[in-house]
Amino acid sequence: MNSATMYGAIAEKLLRGETIILDGAIGTEILRRNVSWADHQLADRPEVVRSIHEDYIRAGADVLSTNSFQLCRRAFDNHFRDVAHRRHIGAVDLDERANRMLAASVRLTLEARQRTVAPRPVAVAAAVTTLEWCFRPDLAPSAEQARAEYREIFQVVKDAGADLILLETVNSIPEARAALEVANDIGMPCWISFVPDERGRLFTGETFPQAVAELEPRGVDAILLNCAPPDDITAGMVELASHAHVPIGAYAHIGRFDPPEWLFTAEYPPPRYREVAAHWKQIGKRNGGRILGGCCGTTPEHITALATLR
Ligand SMILES: [Zn+2]
Repeated sequence: MNSATMYGAIAEKLLRGETIILDGAIGTEILRRNVSWADHQLADRPEVVRSIHEDYIRAGADVLSTNSFQLCRRAFDNHFRDVAHRRHIGAVDLDERANRMLAASVRLTLEARQRTVAPRPVAVAAAVTTLEWCFRPDLAPSAEQARAEYREIFQVVKDAGADLILLETVNSIPEARAALEVANDIGMPCWISFVPDERGRLFTGETFPQAVAELEPRGVDAILLNCAPPDDITAGMVELASHAHVPIGAYAHIGRFDPPEWLFTAEYPPPRYREVAAHWKQIGKRNGGRILGGCCGTTPEHITALATLR
């Protein structure tokens, strides 16, 4: 199946009101397997990354997300005074390293799909997050600047063969809108996932009804919530579900953020996580198709448990 067909199969299931299972964490799963997260392990230990994708296929995921958290030119440039300074003192490949790693993250996920037999279509989503730090909307670039940078990123993942864009951990509506316009322009399906706060709003104070009103007329394929504790996700889902007409979804993190790594806790073993996700599915009943997965701290065992919610 080509990209359009692969995503088309997932979109059709959503249209029929079926539940789509998204994978779990990649970055924290690399850590849990006692491998450091330096360089995303795309170059040094590609087999570790690929085997995690394969485990998520075996666990029942319909959509795999690439190991590409904050892989963008800006993430490297932010270490320097300006581009001239980077060229002066930085490693010589920094100019194209982000794009090279981004393409590699897509390629590894496609390889995992090819190597693992699944009795269902499995789509590859290029995971892209905010251009600046995902919990800091105050740092976001202008819409014009964001469009230019997303255009570069989305073209790289499209050329590498991704089936859709999963823009995740988004903290403001303007940045989501800028990215969606670019995805439309280059012809990529786009799911947008926001990070909710404990009141069930965006970090900017914007609301999910506002997000729906901005994104649905522009053709967003699904709206999700991610990278917050399960209770915050639930609060956001209630807001989102009452206004959205497109498929909605959720994937919470479990444990605690311990920068730059992750603190695993035993609070949400797979059966308990499944219970919370079943509640999200129930909340989104009116919206038809729903998407359920796991963010930081979740494992293939969590996805195996979620897959029983189909
Ligand atoms: Zn997360």
